[in-house]
Amino acid sequence: MDVKIGLECHAQLLTRSKLFCSCSTDYHNAEPNTYVCATCLGLPGALPVVNKRAIRYAIKIALALGCEVQEETIFYRKNYYYPDLPRGFQITQYDFPIAFKGLVRIESNGGKEREIRITRVHMEEDPGRLAYKGTIDTSKYSLVDYNRSGMPLVEIVTEPDLKSPKEARIFLGKLRSILEYLDVFDGDLEGAMRVDANISIEGGNRAEVKNISSYKGVERALLFEITRQKNLLRRGLNVQLETRHYDEVRGVTLSMRTKEFEHDYRYFPEPDLVPICISDSVEAVKQEIPELPDEKRKRFLAQYSISPEHASSLIYDPHIADYYEDVASKIDPRLSATWIADVLKGELNYRSSSMREASKRISHDDFVTILRYLVQGVITERGVTAIIRAMLDKGGKPEEIIKIKGLASMGSEETEKIIYSVLKDNKGVIEDYKAGKKEALNFLVGQVMKHTRGRADPKEVSRLLRDTIETGF
Ligand code: ADP
Ligand code: MG
Ligand code: ZN
Repeated sequence: MDVKIGLECHAQLLTRSKLFCSCSTDYHNAEPNTYVCATCLGLPGALPVVNKRAIRYAIKIALALGCEVQEETIFYRKNYYYPDLPRGFQITQYDFPIAFKGLVRIESNGGKEREIRITRVHMEEDPGRLAYKGTIDTSKYSLVDYNRSGMPLVEIVTEPDLKSPKEARIFLGKLRSILEYLDVFDGDLEGAMRVDANISIEGGNRAEVKNISSYKGVERALLFEITRQKNLLRRGLNVQLETRHYDEVRGVTLSMRTKEFEHDYRYFPEPDLVPICISDSVEAVKQEIPELPDEKRKRFLAQYSISPEHASSLIYDPHIADYYEDVASKIDPRLSATWIADVLKGELNYRSSSMREASKRISHDDFVTILRYLVQGVITERGVTAIIRAMLDKGGKPEEIIKIKGLASMGSEETEKIIYSVLKDNKGVIEDYKAGKKEALNFLVGQVMKHTRGRADPKEVSRLLRDTIETGF
């Protein structure tokens, strides 16, 4: 059965002030209800003034997604009441959004390229935030914080082109990457991206799961929906056209209400704002668009001759891409790719740390120094990993850590001594090896590594062991 998924992605823009007032957007560490004014609280008579930078950011996003930016854009009122929306309407867009018709390329299963069409890009204000003790189900009361009210959002709507929950997650990753390249979005901020996920299965209606705030959450909610909808269809029942809520804790979706339609909202043009001509700004905004992920990936492949997997991994986060280029300009680009994509990125994930934070602890020059020590044989691969971990955790300089932790590679004389003593103690194992039991060598390597405490290179040890056994000792 064919699965169709379309996403409505709401991204918070990194402007300094809100969309229609001068309140600060930097509310993530603020006390609730402190970054508010008459406008974003929706008090009667307060008037909105559009944030020009927010409009430019939205145009930038639309261009980067290959959309057709419109001549003119108009804000509309979407009327509904909810405690997080004290005005009784949200200022959003309708028939005259910023742009229509774009395209995002994703690498789906097995690196297969897929094109996901973008329906439209429009702007709107964020409502306030409701907080529950526990979950929306179990909480006896709701708390409301209007600091978020009026935050500038860009909504990016896709066609129902995604075919699986995994593709949805990959798409969101790609979108995040593009928005971060544009320097208009920070995916690390809590709630920076919220998604409404629409999903249908061949022969059934679609359900819309509202307001999912994590990438994993989108994938999980969609997986749950596939099972739920398939079960209904299998039993000959209808999938209701409805709006559902995702319970992050239990990993299930719950029915919230029957699907609302456009006429329910009584859209009409916002009379307190004039239509805005945007086509005039397009040329200037185009100049601000940097090299985007797809182009960077192509360039990395050509310029550094790295593997396609490494290229994809390195370009995802623009801070990592820049860091890589700084390192690769000073030492073997392929070696740099391996250590940054396979090791440094893993260590960052493990610590939930960002490259921006990490680069304060390991500058790219430090990283070059560490790799140089490896190439010169001063330290082993295990030494490199140990230094990276130590620097991420506590800072410091490579030389100090090599000294303090005793990471300097063993001289070959010292290593040979240990090899001899291990061979002496394991005559039986040598016989096994000679009799054709190849695993016996691994055991001996392990013994030697134990005695050198990782300060010897396992490949080198393996080679020395083989030579020594063959030539006799
Ligand atoms: P609404 O605004 O009422 O939610 P839209 O037509 O604007 O409806 O569509 C919203 C989202 O639903 C879009 O991302 C679109 O791709 C998706 N969508 C539309 N039809 C389907 C479908 N049959 N299955 C899955 N997603 C769909
Ligand atoms: Mg919708
Ligand atoms: Zn305000």
